[in-house]
Amino acid sequence: MRVEFHGAAGEVTGSMHLVEAAGKRILIDCGMVQGSPEAEARNFAPFPFDAAGIDALVLSHAHIDHVGRVPRLMLAGFDGPIHAQAATADLLPIMLLDAASLQENDADRSNRKRKPGQPKAHPLYTRGDVRNVLQQVRPHPYDHRVTLFEGVELVFRDAGHILGSSILELWADGRKLVFSGDLGMRNAPILRDPAVVRTADLLLMESTYGNRNHRERDATVRELGEILDAAWRESGNVLIPAFAVGRTQELLYWFARHWNDWDMSRWRIFLDSPMASKVVQVYDHHHALFDAEAREVWRGTPNPFRLPNLRVTETAEESMAINRIHGGAIVIAGNGMASGGRILHHMRQCLPKRQTRMVFVGYQAEGTLGRRLVDGARWVRIHGHDVRVNAHRHTVGGLSAHADQQALLEWYAGFDPPPPLALVHGEDLAREALAGEIHERHGVQAVLARPGMALDV
Ligand code: ZN
Repeated sequence: MRVEFHGAAGEVTGSMHLVEAAGKRILIDCGMVQGSPEAEARNFAPFPFDAAGIDALVLSHAHIDHVGRVPRLMLAGFDGPIHAQAATADLLPIMLLDAASLQENDADRSNRKRKPGQPKAHPLYTRGDVRNVLQQVRPHPYDHRVTLFEGVELVFRDAGHILGSSILELWADGRKLVFSGDLGMRNAPILRDPAVVRTADLLLMESTYGNRNHRERDATVRELGEILDAAWRESGNVLIPAFAVGRTQELLYWFARHWNDWDMSRWRIFLDSPMASKVVQVYDHHHALFDAEAREVWRGTPNPFRLPNLRVTETAEESMAINRIHGGAIVIAGNGMASGGRILHHMRQCLPKRQTRMVFVGYQAEGTLGRRLVDGARWVRIHGHDVRVNAHRHTVGGLSAHADQQALLEWYAGFDPPPPLALVHGEDLAREALAGEIHERHGVQAVLARPGMALDV
């Protein structure tokens, strides 16, 4: 068995790893590169391998940095099966159709501004291309042994990161490869804890927060309550850029859990993301995958996904109308790193106001507007306008859907014996810190995967 790294090898987006085993070529994840415009331009580059020669694609979860280039793969000649956990399979159309719409809109916008002689912009892919992808998807339950090909077997284990997120166990050539996918925190709300895996001949492990520990979740949730309280006292709005999958559902869950003590009924809550509201429906449908506590909350009143004061805004006009509300509104809108999407309209209106509270609840990648704000920028540029930032900024890191250093180390310690590993899905500082800790505790020197690097298992 041989593994080649072609994405998220030294960064946190663009996950893509190629496995050669039993005479087959299996691609794990086919994610979009996200971040600065320069970084995102890399999505247009040809694949560094023959896409038509890939026999099967396996997806770890539905986040766009793990699935966002699948339509590109098909345009490049791939026509094999796409294996995914069942909830991932249900989230996939939502994620990819949204990405295709954004791409189509971006291309239209630049073509309208195009000067004579400039080349025409093309979307990365269209909604039509996405429909071809969906026909290839093969959904599977967790913990069920799937035969991909003769001599190649796969099991999806719950990774506890977002609904459907999976750790992959792959057996072939008498060897076993484990890919952590993105790992969630233990005791995170809604989802079950990441499955413990005992053995691997090679482990590919994510390292997003390899150098950091999150705050205690209880303290974080308390802080969220305090931020809402302060915003209410100052009659401000609360803006929360949130990923449509995971963080949005978690926020709604906390609002329901703290309905009385946070006096949540006084707020007008907007879910300004048609995409996120579709994802809420998929969560609702797959409530059997929740942990015991969340199943109970889900059965209670109010149901986190049907809060009585929650408005889901469908049209752009409804979204714009929120800007006329000067206080008492909580606006959850995409995208999660404020690098595009409806949150930008709200930020342009609200960032100059001191009573606004901007709450970051997720990872902000280098080069994104969210990262610049978290890093303290006083001025930012939104839709071609310079915007002064007077709003309060809060980074509520403890809500992260990613395991922190401590959790990554605990999960790795579940293996016996400690397997050789390659660290993926992390910036270098994070990977180096995690590799150092693992070496110290287990005497195993982790490989820091680089694009194009290959490892024999
Ligand atoms: Zn993810």
